[in-house]
Amino acid sequence: MLPKPAGVLASTLMTETSVAKILLKRLRAQTPEMLACLRRFVECESPSLEKTAADRCCTLIAKEWRSAGAHVERVPNAHRGDHLRIVWQPREERSSRSTGQVLVLGHYDTVYASGTLKRMPFRIKGGKAYGPGVFDMKAGIVQALFAFRALRELQPASAPPSGQKPQKRIVFLWTSDEEIGSGTSRKLLEAEARRSDAVFVLEPAFGPRGLLKTARKGVGEAELIVHGRASHAGLAPQDGVNAIHELARQISRIEKWNDLKRGISVNADIVEGGTRTNVIADRARALFDLRALSIADMRKIEGRLHALHSLNRNAKLEVHGGFDRPPLERKMSAALFAQAKTIAQQLGIDLDECCAGGGSDGNLTGALGIATLDGMGAVGDGAHSPDEYIVIRGLAERAALLAAMLQTALRPLRPL
Ligand SMILES: [Zn+2]
Repeated sequence: MLPKPAGVLASTLMTETSVAKILLKRLRAQTPEMLACLRRFVECESPSLEKTAADRCCTLIAKEWRSAGAHVERVPNAHRGDHLRIVWQPREERSSRSTGQVLVLGHYDTVYASGTLKRMPFRIKGGKAYGPGVFDMKAGIVQALFAFRALRELQPASAPPSGQKPQKRIVFLWTSDEEIGSGTSRKLLEAEARRSDAVFVLEPAFGPRGLLKTARKGVGEAELIVHGRASHAGLAPQDGVNAIHELARQISRIEKWNDLKRGISVNADIVEGGTRTNVIADRARALFDLRALSIADMRKIEGRLHALHSLNRNAKLEVHGGFDRPPLERKMSAALFAQAKTIAQQLGIDLDECCAGGGSDGNLTGALGIATLDGMGAVGDGAHSPDEYIVIRGLAERAALLAAMLQTALRPLRPL
């Protein structure tokens, strides 16, 4: 490919810079509107486990997107809230072809049961907005909505010149069960991700500086059950096989797998077993939390778990589970992050990255080999706690950043 003449490149950059800045200016002016929309979303509680309440919030979100001109598809769900799939293919009337897809992903469910609003109402104080799910991640959905609106206004009114490449399609997917492991949304979001060239995850950014999450640990859960043999602890201790003793020895072996520098952690966080003090325990069980930063380490831990054997040869082990969200490796985010950083610089935003210890749906899309950038949502803190908040100034900034990232897939623009 021939290099672009320097002048053309410079003017392209100039145009992109000014478009990003114009997006930010427009979105800043819409901050009060964004806040009002956020308030409506937060005040419509949407616990993952309460379908009726979640569906109500789903209806509200669908309504807001429809009134912004979006084509909204509601995906029915038997036991959890319905999911929302919003497809936007600018100029679809003029061109049925598209050259690919970009996925914007998030969830509208929260970890708060209905009624939480009473003691944790939506409120604004000192440049912050508080409320259940405000940060994780209803503000992310609001930012995406306003980014969509801003981008729609920039699209050319006329058909592209012949020879112009057809545009990509953008799919926004808002799911209802991320907080409980994405059981009903996983297939749907993986199918959309497979069709996509890039995935932007609107999960909250990290910390007061709003770091993007360019890596996430893989997360899993394993259960180890030990079967021993009961016997009278006083009359016939020699006949017993103590399942708790065996489990304790296994746990102390497993503890050695921890390697925090490599990002591996394995923790027995629930143990139970036995019946009475004078009965040798014939059963004991432990539940482990598993974390790993690389797919290779994840496989290693899983391999070790399933290769466990009993130390007391009369005891039997049963192992279940493993990782259900593989790690999001940094290489899946690197290119998109570099692009985001450049755009952020144009907007005067200092943008940095971090590795998150917890998983999200970004782990699932990254594991499919699709470029994924996570933490594109709100700036704030306190997820899953009574002090959950967002920084109001970040609403427009992060919406502009998302819009500018998406806009690169939606050329050409109407001259401003
Ligand atoms: Zn979340």
